Amino acid sequence: MDHDVIVIGEISDRATVTLTDGATKPYNGIFTATTFAPAARATPAGFEVTIHDGTTATGAKLILATGVRDTLPDIPGLAERWGDSVAACPYCHGYECDKGPIAVIGTGPGSEHQAQLLSEWGQVDFLTQGRVPLDDAIRADLARRRVTLIDTPVAEISDRATVTLTDGATKPYNGIFTATTFAPASPIAMLLGCEIEENPMGQVIKVDGMQATSVPGVFACGDAATFMASVSIAVGKGALAGIACHRDLVFGQT
Ligand SMILES: Cc1cc2nc3c(=O)[nH]c(=O)nc-3n(C[C@H](O)[C@H](O)[C@H](O)COP(=O)(O)OP(=O)(O)OC[C@H]3O[C@@H](n4cnc5c(N)ncnc54)[C@H](O)[C@@H]3O)c2cc1C
Repeated sequence: MDHDVIVIGEISDRATVTLTDGATKPYNGIFTATTFAPAARATPAGFEVTIHDGTTATGAKLILATGVRDTLPDIPGLAERWGDSVAACPYCHGYECDKGPIAVIGTGPGSEHQAQLLSEWGQVDFLTQGRVPLDDAIRADLARRRVTLIDTPVAEISDRATVTLTDGATKPYNGIFTATTFAPASPIAMLLGCEIEENPMGQVIKVDGMQATSVPGVFACGDAATFMASVSIAVGKGALAGIACHRDLVFGQT
């Protein structure tokens, strides 16, 4: 379940990084991001960011790459397995289900999309918990995809991925999927007055095609500014935000 960008195994000597595939590389120095910025404000020269230790940092432009905070369904055993046997994204975690049984835990309208998609990766039990309105067309589509509908609410998740329903029935799965709601992890976009985009999945910072927010000089990228959470998308949009920010510095507001 690691993100396939770079996985560090250990750091030895003064600055030699060993990756999990055994490759080593010496560096002149290693920096890790341990700085938390609880606030920011606009100034005549640009922006001033407050650091957690009380110091400030200033810049003419600002790029927000601060991710989102997920709110998980309140089911005993779910949070402990989040990112391991419980996840949200079929494209990230569907393959690992190895075509075995998959549970999709419904949280509300739209959860049927997860069940429809995941039927590509295994046999899906769609645990609607009685919370997902399904019309005849969607029921027919789910039946065509051999998705089993179960309305009994989920009581708990145990072992690796075993679901127990409130009627006592239990079943082990290869993977469990559910939807979260999310919002920007940092309040900075809101503090600066950036427009926020909302849909049933949650909130993200609204950006244009060059990652510019509604506040001139502020750019946003990664999960904080997209409903499609993926490492590669975050990295790509981060590069775009950097380019747009630099062009803004060189050519001014366009
Ligand atoms: C359970 C789970 C599994 C996933 N699996 C996959 C997968 O297999 N493949 C894949 O491609 N994607 C996966 N994703 C999605 C992927 O993790 C994200 O798309 C990606 O991490 C987004 O990168 P980001 O830099 O935008 O945000 P993040 O990775 O969230 O990084 C944001 C950083 O900003 C920091 N931060 C927040 N607020 C502040 C502040 N005020 N001051 C300073 N720092 C701050 C945070 O601490 C964090 O370190 C998964 C996501 C989840 C939740």
